[in-house]
Amino acid sequence: MAERRKYKKRYCKYCESKVEFMDYKDAALLKNTLSERFKIMPRRLTGNCKRHQDMATIAIKRARAAAIIPYTISRKEVVINPFEIIGR
Ligand SMILES: [Zn+2]
Repeated sequence: MAERRKYKKRYCKYCESKVEFMDYKDAALLKNTLSERFKIMPRRLTGNCKRHQDMATIAIKRARAAAIIPYTISRKEVVINPFEIIGR
């Protein structure tokens, strides 16, 4: 239950900021859908709508292929804030 509370907000963050197109180079946008281990978060946790979740999934996979975000993260790196690596 404590785990759940972290993702309490149910609204779609992308709808709120009126995101029409998600660029795979825009890591700051994608981080809403990524967990701290750079895994794609399921929609039931992020509260993203179907449309934006699909867009984010495609963009994240492209970003991984382009080495903008890592596929996996080592145990040491999890301790620090992963989004500091990406930058805002
Ligand atoms: Zn949305």
